[in-house]
Amino acid sequence: MKKPAKTKPWGDATLAIHAGEEHFRVGAPVGTSIARTSNFTFAGTEEMKRWAEGKSSAYIYTRYGNPTLSIAEKKIAALEGAEDAVVTASGSAAIASALLSQLSAGDEVIATRQLYGGSYRLLRDVFPRYGIVVRHVESDLAGIERLVNPRTKALYVETPTNPTLRLVDLSKAAAFAREWGLVSLIDNTFASPVLQKPLEMGFNIVLHSASKYLSGHSDVIAGAAAGSAALIRKVRANVIQLGGSMDPEAAFLLIRGMKTLGVRIERQCKSAMAVAKYLERHPKVARVHYPGLPSHPDFALAKRQMRGFGAMLAFDCKGGPKAGLAAARRFCDRVRVFLLAASLGGTESLVVLPIYTSHYKMSPEELRAVGVGPGTVRVSIGLEDPEDLIEDLRQALG
Ligand SMILES: *Cc1c(COP(=O)(O)O)cnc(C)c1O
Repeated sequence: MKKPAKTKPWGDATLAIHAGEEHFRVGAPVGTSIARTSNFTFAGTEEMKRWAEGKSSAYIYTRYGNPTLSIAEKKIAALEGAEDAVVTASGSAAIASALLSQLSAGDEVIATRQLYGGSYRLLRDVFPRYGIVVRHVESDLAGIERLVNPRTKALYVETPTNPTLRLVDLSKAAAFAREWGLVSLIDNTFASPVLQKPLEMGFNIVLHSASKYLSGHSDVIAGAAAGSAALIRKVRANVIQLGGSMDPEAAFLLIRGMKTLGVRIERQCKSAMAVAKYLERHPKVARVHYPGLPSHPDFALAKRQMRGFGAMLAFDCKGGPKAGLAAARRFCDRVRVFLLAASLGGTESLVVLPIYTSHYKMSPEELRAVGVGPGTVRVSIGLEDPEDLIEDLRQALG
């Protein structure tokens, strides 16, 4: 069977299934094989010599590369429209390796304030110890021109944000980075490449916690970085040196999960919209944070830069700090279909209280600044029947 002649570029669902695989050879396995090995044989001493001289791209040791990892890398690069990608042991490994590929002692980085907790702590607790200065900007980028100076080397953003789903205008952020000669990096975990293509909007490096939507089944910790071949070469060097390489078994789970990425995201977005609309009408809900609702402050921007509104949302229970928290706790303790668990992007719908998870130990002022209250509940919509999700919300809020 011959590979069909391409008449037009493949869509995301097709890429997620076929990119990087050798499906179109006679007798090829349709399922993905795991190269469960730590090392590979050299063809001969000539190959060994060429490798030492940096002229051979042969696999030699899995921390440096492995055929199963390469399949995952090709899929993610294809989905992000990138020249290359590198997969890592976790999203955190991808983020640290990518940022450190651009930052040295004395350099500065501008980052959005609303970040995944682990990333925020990396910038707050680790980078300063190595002489890297971090400056934070709000998601609307207000006053960013006052934060930049000749030592600034990178711009790091996350959009949509956790948990209030505020958006960063990616074209505007990329243009600012270009103007100042900064490398722009984005954590695209919440949107997934199906809903948001940051490289098309001028970003340089896209990062993922593939533990979330890309793998999609809450069964693996994984990460990825995608971008130009030159930038990814530097990220990959850090992944190899710092030891954040992915294991082939994890790569298999990621690849297997990605084969259903298209349908998962489509269904999850639809269910999330139904849930958001239901919650917005509920008398015990003060406010719903979902970029697909016209009431969300970034609704217009979401329509412009995303291909769908995603499957993450949050809502605030009515009542002041005390009554709101009590209502949110009662809701979370009563859900029966939703699970009370951290993480996101899997087949199971989840709820968490940000004040006890991602936003633990933040002062009331810090919480107000990011729009999180004691009564805020974060929701990740999975793949259950939407009617069952809504019925669960009804009984748990009741
Ligand atoms: C989970 C997450 C991370 C961290 O990824 P790990 O795979 O847990 O290391 C980074 N960014 C976002 C937005 C996340 O949700």
